Amino acid sequence: MQLYNTLSAKEREQLIEEAGKDRLTISFYKYAHIGNPEILRNHLFIAWNEMDVLGRIYVAYEGVNAQLSVPAENFETFKTHLDSITFLENVRLNIAVEQDNKSFLKLKVKVRNKIVADGLNDDTFDVTDKGVHVGAERFNELIEDPDTVLVDMRNHYESEIGHFKNAVTPDVDTFRDSLDIIEEDLKEHKEDKKLVMYCTGGIRCEKASAYYKHKGFKNVFQLEGGIIEYTRQVKAEGLENKFLGKNFVFDHRRGERISEDVISSCHQCGKPCDTHVNCANEACHLLFIQCEDCAKAMDNCCSTECQDVHALPYEEQKRLRKGKHASNKIFKKGRSEVLKYKK
Ligand SMILES: [Zn+2]
Ligand SMILES: [Zn+2]
Repeated sequence: MQLYNTLSAKEREQLIEEAGKDRLTISFYKYAHIGNPEILRNHLFIAWNEMDVLGRIYVAYEGVNAQLSVPAENFETFKTHLDSITFLENVRLNIAVEQDNKSFLKLKVKVRNKIVADGLNDDTFDVTDKGVHVGAERFNELIEDPDTVLVDMRNHYESEIGHFKNAVTPDVDTFRDSLDIIEEDLKEHKEDKKLVMYCTGGIRCEKASAYYKHKGFKNVFQLEGGIIEYTRQVKAEGLENKFLGKNFVFDHRRGERISEDVISSCHQCGKPCDTHVNCANEACHLLFIQCEDCAKAMDNCCSTECQDVHALPYEEQKRLRKGKHASNKIFKKGRSEVLKYKK
């Protein structure tokens, strides 16, 4: 029985091109108690491999998190199969707005400790004991309530370019850090305030809501499906949009515009701008906000130092990077001394 990929990404790309068939990019997650992740992993791989599903899937004792590319013609079979797995019956599928037939070139189903890297080592609480899920309409009402504290569960570089009106946006690099900050800020209000949370697609605040319930918060709510699903519902149902600016996304687009407001500034000159870029010096790769004028003046770099390196012949740059090849993998998102206008 085949349990792993046998084709390389290149071979797969060629097959997709030859087949010329449409594929759907889909994501879903579900927290649940999985007795044996390895067995579920093999079951999913065998079934999905047969349907020509590609993607990156994490299976853990705490649930499943999947980003997939499914041939459009196999979508019904895929859905029926999901529904046959008790805890995945009717799971909400996020279907990407912009389709890309080559979003994934392999099927990788991996057993992990966690379905998202959340830095939480607290196994004493039940992740399936989550807060109340609310849709866009109820969310809009809730966030106007004076007893509501609205919290953005994302990191600083995400909320910087877009967030809900009146949201608390912790200045944090990790999810773990915001959990502590919020708990400290609200420790006197565990019973009288409504704690309403949101994130990009819902997976982070689902865990946060279970965590806060465990910590004694009585009224915990989360925006179901996150900003992505909120935006879809606002458009479909003609609701008022209360999200300002751009939604940061983790693919090459980096941000989806939700409202015309530009709420952030170019980190180099301070003028209104909400375009994230990575420093063109590969050894740096810093994520920051840069306007078109600065991009031109700085050769797409974050600093004159990086500009100097970037101007060297490629071989020379490679030589300089030697021995420091992990440098652009270092967690270095949007923070640097060189960014004058970073808040
Ligand atoms: Zn600028
Ligand atoms: Zn740089």
